[in-house]
Amino acid sequence: MSFPSWLSQLYRGLSRPIRRTTQPIWGSLYRSLVQSSQRRNPEFSSFAVRTNTCGELRSSHLGQEVTLCGWIQYRRQNTFLVLRDFHGLVQVVIPQDESAASVRKILCEAPVESVVQVSGTVISRPAGQENPKMPTGEIEIKVKTAELLNACKKLPFEIKDFMKKTEALRLQYRYLDLRSFQMQYNLRLRSQMVMKMREYLCNLHGFVDIETPTLFKRTPGGAKEFLVPSREPGKFYSLPQSPQQFKQLLMVGGLDRYFQVARCYRDEGSRPDRQPEFTQIDIEMSFVDQTGIQSLIEGLLQYSWPNDKDPVVVPFPTVTFTEALATYGTDKPDTRFGMKKYLKRKDIESIRKFAADHFNQEILPVFLNANRNWNSPVASFIMESQRLELIRLMDTQEEDVVLLTAGEHNKACSLLGKLRLECADLLETRGMVLRDPTLFSFLWVVDFPLFLPKEENPRELESAHHPFTAPHPSDIHLLYTEPKKARSQHYDLVLNGNEIGGGSIRIHNAELQRYILATLLKEDVKMLSHLLQALDYGAPPHGGIALGLDRLICLVTGSPSIRDVIAFPKSFRGHDLMSNAPDSIPSEELKPYHIRVSWPTDSKAERAH
Ligand code: ASP
Repeated sequence: MSFPSWLSQLYRGLSRPIRRTTQPIWGSLYRSLVQSSQRRNPEFSSFAVRTNTCGELRSSHLGQEVTLCGWIQYRRQNTFLVLRDFHGLVQVVIPQDESAASVRKILCEAPVESVVQVSGTVISRPAGQENPKMPTGEIEIKVKTAELLNACKKLPFEIKDFMKKTEALRLQYRYLDLRSFQMQYNLRLRSQMVMKMREYLCNLHGFVDIETPTLFKRTPGGAKEFLVPSREPGKFYSLPQSPQQFKQLLMVGGLDRYFQVARCYRDEGSRPDRQPEFTQIDIEMSFVDQTGIQSLIEGLLQYSWPNDKDPVVVPFPTVTFTEALATYGTDKPDTRFGMKKYLKRKDIESIRKFAADHFNQEILPVFLNANRNWNSPVASFIMESQRLELIRLMDTQEEDVVLLTAGEHNKACSLLGKLRLECADLLETRGMVLRDPTLFSFLWVVDFPLFLPKEENPRELESAHHPFTAPHPSDIHLLYTEPKKARSQHYDLVLNGNEIGGGSIRIHNAELQRYILATLLKEDVKMLSHLLQALDYGAPPHGGIALGLDRLICLVTGSPSIRDVIAFPKSFRGHDLMSNAPDSIPSEELKPYHIRVSWPTDSKAERAH
């Protein structure tokens, strides 16, 4: 078969129209998760012993013989039992007559959260006993047979969403925590969004889903990589921080539109809202510029956005890195609010303390009187004309509070950026809604610097994004004169003050890539010789982006932590509290890897006990 003909056959097969079926029969939550109208509704009970899910039965099912499987949510006075599955709750009537004594025994004795199977008839609830708050509240099940599939021991916590439990306990018994409505919602919404992303990328835009290795080698500057020992003495694999090199190599390989739901690994120690392993929607394409990637991502988010949220409005606004820093004091501004007002005098003290404690920096508050006079200790040091200019620049109104600070530009801006958020926290504790949780405010940040001074040694440079990022076309000459001033073709996507994606147009010229790595970044180019070599074999111009899936879903679902949108996350110290990973390995088993543990002295003492 010739190349174009098998390709067109493959795509014809993929885009076969999908059959429409009837009205959704599931609850309101799941209705909002069912996505485009062309898609058929899933059959939740196919291949299973149940005929229906617990949440789907309505008056329209009256008289039907059904078999349901679920967990016992609660029992009322040995007359009713409420059964639960992912889909909802249904009331089962416990039979009282003598002939059904065995069914009654099962249903009355099984502890809460036991899993049971019941068969019976859908009947209407007696008049006056309907429960309008329950989607299945008009009906109940008259049971004929019941089977205890598995009993539940005494639980470490109640499954109910409103019951507060510590996160450590939830993670230790994650399989129970997953039964909660909230976790069910989060993981199912995640699955739906990813499915729509696949559909958009592969079926609508011809992207190819390709898996790349997770056993890889170190990359320059890859201090955050996890190592995996090999059986060859002294040789290690590294777990990739992202599929960056592979996706670029795929472009050289002519797979000109790549995407992957990629697992990435970063050994960053304990950070409250990071995970050592996390997921990216990783994208790369050839023959594209920055605006092409931006439009692709805007379309992707619009297409995969859950139907129960306000639709995503595109295009997203764009600010430059320099503007973002000067205006919001951060490269990931929360643009849901402007926020310049409503502070009380006593708040200023806590703000000053925050600035002093966290930034070792002085803050000068200015309270504007009705006549726009300055009420501030700083007033006498600033000339009248400067004051007026400041009022004009800031567009201040009566009674506004202005916070002034002085110092090195980036440092002063980021302090003010932090204070802006700090003030928002303060005002929200007083009931003022500044950051509307139902609002999704996307923003592109562009024109980042190509390099930043290294933290450990500010005289050396490191890449602001990664070393494969192309310089801004107007700044290429600066690479040879003042590299610090060169801007890049790196873009970040920000949502409500969180970076949810980042990418760049790449360098596809081996010579330029070598110059940046070796001369400017002082990296060992030998480690990247395969990539440099590939660029010399007709590498197409290309660019890409990666979206942080966990953070995106966390924001969409309004979850307090990214751990709430990951089925089996690590604790913030990087531990799996359920299985106790990472675990120790007997020294015998380390021998094939030529590894011996050198125990720190205090933990040796601990182990001896
Ligand atoms: N690989 C990059 C990252 O993980 C994203 C990109 O440049 O496409 O941040």
